[in-house]
Amino acid sequence: MAFKPEKPSIHGETPETLGVRLVEGGHPRYRAAQVFEWIYPRRAEKADKMTNLPANLRAWLAENYDFEATEVLGRQTALDVTQKLLQRLRDGSLIETVIIRAPMEGVGQDKSRRTICISTQVGCAYGCKFCASGLDGWKRDLSVGEIVSQLVQVCRIEDQADPARAAEGLASFDNIVVMGMGEPLANYDNLMAALRIVNAAWGFGFGARRVTISTSGVVPKILKLAEEPEGFRLAISLHGATNEVREKIMPVNKKYPLEELVPAAKAFARKHGRMLTLEFILIEDINDMLEQARKLAVIARELHAHVNLIPYNKVEGLPWVRPSLTRQDRFVKELRALGVTATLRREKGHDIDAACGQLRLQKEKEAVRNGPPPPAAA
Ligand code: SAH
Ligand code: SF4
Repeated sequence: MAFKPEKPSIHGETPETLGVRLVEGGHPRYRAAQVFEWIYPRRAEKADKMTNLPANLRAWLAENYDFEATEVLGRQTALDVTQKLLQRLRDGSLIETVIIRAPMEGVGQDKSRRTICISTQVGCAYGCKFCASGLDGWKRDLSVGEIVSQLVQVCRIEDQADPARAAEGLASFDNIVVMGMGEPLANYDNLMAALRIVNAAWGFGFGARRVTISTSGVVPKILKLAEEPEGFRLAISLHGATNEVREKIMPVNKKYPLEELVPAAKAFARKHGRMLTLEFILIEDINDMLEQARKLAVIARELHAHVNLIPYNKVEGLPWVRPSLTRQDRFVKELRALGVTATLRREKGHDIDAACGQLRLQKEKEAVRNGPPPPAAA
């Protein structure tokens, strides 16, 4: 179900691939470097802005490339300054990009540390039972250009709040987490190509160590990722410390049970010599029992992993319940008592349905009630 847009996204190109197309179009190859200088450090949103390029080249770029493969439709701001962007793709599909601000001592809110959470697919085939993204299944993978375009749109918005950083040509965010809609490792090639663009000196020059990829546990792809030279960080959505519990809420566990997932995670950690994160959503009476905390502690210690506890965020139509604060505290205390470093995310954005896929789901329901969204601008 691949979507073929009218024009390819400029954000899916590299100096090599653009160079080839330039030559085919009768333009010198060296112009590619100038084009990238405009696109990333200088944030040009259309070819017309590239004032040091000849007019015929600007016209050629505008005719042959899409500069906005994703378009920001709306923004929601939560009380705790988490911001959600709903972005529309050229086929009308909706995805989410979340900006999470961690205020820093002594600086204004605009200078707070910004983490951007990006999507990699429309929908998700993995069908975890607590997740809004998987409710309607998988629609399609995002292209390389669509993944990068999401970040470019964030920069355009954040530049307004931080013009000094924009003037230096740096990305206007500090971390990327690939934890939005979709299973990133199921769109492996496009994700890697997109992250390499973000990482490249001619792109955003954004360090691989500031990028965390979250997976529900696609074992062969974890092993493949371990072999990549860049050293992106890895988070594993565990959500169950035994196969029995994990299987109840994560169908992927049938294919890749813990006895395969844990060694794969270990191989990754060994290769990169860096700490993994284990994500664990707390759902009442499903996985928040002390017995689970003890088994989780064994896995976390074996992997030297940090545990990130996320209280379940209510999804309309799903039966699960978020545990009380007392039960959440009891769980984290047990882990810590067993020597595990754990954080309990009193998660940001709860007031705007920040858990993955929820804003999009709500919009799609509205669209069903009100008719389809207007077509994306040409
Ligand atoms: N597919 C990947 C990345 C996207 S989902 C993965 O599963 O890791 C990323 C995270 O969204 C999940 O780990 C989980 O932490 C969070 N999430 C999904 N549904 C949620 C819910 N209802 N409440 C809280 N967090 C949720
Ligand atoms: Fe897909 Fe991740 Fe949601 Fe599971 S939690 S359905 S893998 S997006």
